[in-house]
Amino acid sequence: MQNRIIVAIDGPAGAGKSTIARAVAAALHAVYIDTGAMYRAVALSAIRGGKAFDDESALTKLAEEATIELGAGGLVRLDGEDVSGLIRTPEIAQAASKVSAIAGVRRAMVASQRRMAESCSVVMEGRDIGTVVFPEAQVKIYLDASPEVRAMRRVLEMRQKGMEADPAQVEAEIRERDYRDSNRTEAPLTQAPGAVYVDTSPMGVDEVVSTLLRIAGERIGKEVEA
Ligand code: C5P
Repeated sequence: MQNRIIVAIDGPAGAGKSTIARAVAAALHAVYIDTGAMYRAVALSAIRGGKAFDDESALTKLAEEATIELGAGGLVRLDGEDVSGLIRTPEIAQAASKVSAIAGVRRAMVASQRRMAESCSVVMEGRDIGTVVFPEAQVKIYLDASPEVRAMRRVLEMRQKGMEADPAQVEAEIRERDYRDSNRTEAPLTQAPGAVYVDTSPMGVDEVVSTLLRIAGERIGKEVEA
């Protein structure tokens, strides 16, 4: 497809990627793709199937055979079942971080993510979008915030959903996941060459969105408004 725009947003847990990417996608009339949800769905499937997180061949097969669909409003379907709520627990987050270290799992997800963007503009967020999935993306952003701010945002988000959240525990979990995601051999989380680093710690959502739209406008060569 000609004039297809790809915006790649990477960063650690709790940097605000989902909220920001969704708003940026709406402003650009692009499809929002949450790749973390895909790894979470694989993790759920692995737990249900009793697979060990280091069983490379079983997890690769599972990832290759799973049908993962992403829909509007955060809908995630695994083999036809709505698992949108089930994958949003701290346990699944940690499990996703483990299964996503497996090369075969990543290969299957990356192939599927590239297919999703074949015929439309996308704003895709994750850990390896600017480095591996779409290194040629017109717009690449590395969204960051201090661990304390990211933990606090996650706590508020969980409490809003009626979940219990202990700030110290949430921060410890985030730090553990970031360490694993940043130090794995396969596609570690890192700022992609050409990506713009945005520290969102002191910023509100609107300010981050308008910053990204300004960067996107500069890269794409047209004005976009929030
Ligand atoms: O973004 P989210 O926190 O939902 O991602 C869950 C986990 O999935 C991350 O901690 C990371 O291990 C993995 N992930 C990944 N590559 C992506 C997106 C997510 O490895 N592109």
